Amino acid sequence: MLQTLRQHLRHGYGRHIWSRSLTTAAAASITQRSSTLAEVPQSSRLSWMLLPTKKSTKRGDTCSVATTTDMLTKAGYIHQSSAGIYTLMPLAQRAMDKIERIIDDEMQSVGGQKLAMPTLLTPDNWIKTGRWQTTGDELFTLHDRKQSAMLLGPTHEEEVTAIVKTMVRSFREYPLRLYQTTRKFRDEARPRAGLLRGREFVMKDMYSFDVTRDQAIETFGALERAYRRCFDRIGVPYAVADADSGNIGGSLSKEFHFVHGSGEDTVLACQSCGYAANEERARGSCSAHGAAYLATVVDAASGSRVAQRLVVVPAGHEPSALKIRQAWPLEPGHRLELAPANVQETQRAAADMLEPLVDACALGLPESPSVSASVAGDWHVAQAGDSCTRCASGVLTAQRAIEVGHIFYLGDKYSRSMDLTVLHQGARHYVQRGCFGIGISRVLQAAAECCSSSDAGLRWPLAIAPFLAAIVPLAGTSHVPQVYKKLAQVVVGGKCVFENNVAVDDREYLSPGFRLHDAQLLGFPLTLVLGRAFAAASEVEVQLRLPPTLSLPRAAAGIELTCIDDEYRAHVHLDRLAEFLGCLLADACPQTLH
Ligand SMILES: [Zn+2]
Repeated sequence: MLQTLRQHLRHGYGRHIWSRSLTTAAAASITQRSSTLAEVPQSSRLSWMLLPTKKSTKRGDTCSVATTTDMLTKAGYIHQSSAGIYTLMPLAQRAMDKIERIIDDEMQSVGGQKLAMPTLLTPDNWIKTGRWQTTGDELFTLHDRKQSAMLLGPTHEEEVTAIVKTMVRSFREYPLRLYQTTRKFRDEARPRAGLLRGREFVMKDMYSFDVTRDQAIETFGALERAYRRCFDRIGVPYAVADADSGNIGGSLSKEFHFVHGSGEDTVLACQSCGYAANEERARGSCSAHGAAYLATVVDAASGSRVAQRLVVVPAGHEPSALKIRQAWPLEPGHRLELAPANVQETQRAAADMLEPLVDACALGLPESPSVSASVAGDWHVAQAGDSCTRCASGVLTAQRAIEVGHIFYLGDKYSRSMDLTVLHQGARHYVQRGCFGIGISRVLQAAAECCSSSDAGLRWPLAIAPFLAAIVPLAGTSHVPQVYKKLAQVVVGGKCVFENNVAVDDREYLSPGFRLHDAQLLGFPLTLVLGRAFAAASEVEVQLRLPPTLSLPRAAAGIELTCIDDEYRAHVHLDRLAEFLGCLLADACPQTLH
């Protein structure tokens, strides 16, 4: 194109001819894109949108789509660039923007200050905290032209610590709650499930700085409440899993999960007291007799044994590497190996054990490694059916879940290794820390995963759907402005919920059948079809595609809803459309739309 333009200019074709041909082309394209829709922003018109309009797609095809990644790809939300790396297409980006607005709102409500730290980092600070040496293969590293090592930040504790260390001089400048929303990089061994486990992803990460431990615990509480508000507003059922390590003075953390059968995490929960925890950290008790394991610390480079201890877990349970590592932190360059212990090994280990994790006498050695679990401490991976250790009367049940957020109280971690101190009440202390993450691109796909099914197709929580509604005019766009204006009148919880939230399928070059099929594929919560009934009697067919967790009323404003193949329909006269949608949305989802 540029070449042609240069030729035009070089050969004396006038600027006039060039500009006239452009104007004609632009006018033609606008004519094709309907001139009756002046009130509808171009960004809300499907004719302007990059969508994979595959005309060969048959209606029945949605049933054969198995995964949410397939559905999102097919409907044009995401586009795979390479393994674990995706483009968020315009519709997905709209949904992301909505999630980000909710999160910004809540982070700023607790004093969060938004900044943007660089993605491209030097390893200096990572060497100080030891993470350059220990993070391993998940870290994306590269070299600049001078052959100096660099990395793509998967998280920013080091960077933010360096900033605060340089800029803050007095205890009066704390507390600080700094956050950002940026792309992060992690070289996953097995990227899978679209945005759920990618190598490049979008994350909100907040870092808190407090003078005292009490203040840091208060920050943790404030952030937990802010996170609950975020997930309440996003509108997908979630669980908050206790990830308390149980060590006095140790770290405190909680995970936020969307509960769904496809999740790769397991949350164990007690119905009696409300305790919930990730399986790897959960505490459950079991009276079955124990089995012994040898926990061996090995030097990764030489392969030689550094230390060995004996741990005992209830029979039928696995030892938890996580719990053992928490009690027995590894030095950089060391790794932990766990293996069942036979009688001889158990005897030998008991003989030269360093600081045993269990009392060797209580094991009843040397006769047998089998012991009562009651002396074994909590070194096992808890299971469904274990007794709850918090209330003692409940039994743990297991639920699959997708982790979408994680909050930590870190104590002086990072402050100590990077020497971030504060002078307070005559003494110098390490600054108290917390960090708080939400995987935003993961929330996007996880929300779709929880609301959709391969039978019903793609569904979105109302608060984050790219558009709350689509208008599909089947015979010309001349009536669209009328309907568009009616939607502008709908107020739910004091908010005009359809403002900048309605798409219009003005692709008149596509058949009605194809556009109706697309509406199903895109899965916007409401589709307003202007078909024959509209031409004859101003009757709009309202199709509802709502998450299965929303309980729908049988009728709204006296107008009945009928259920056909997982989808609800209603036929509503244009004059009553605003009233109907107002009642429906207020009933179905009062909290998530504002
Ligand atoms: Zn309980």
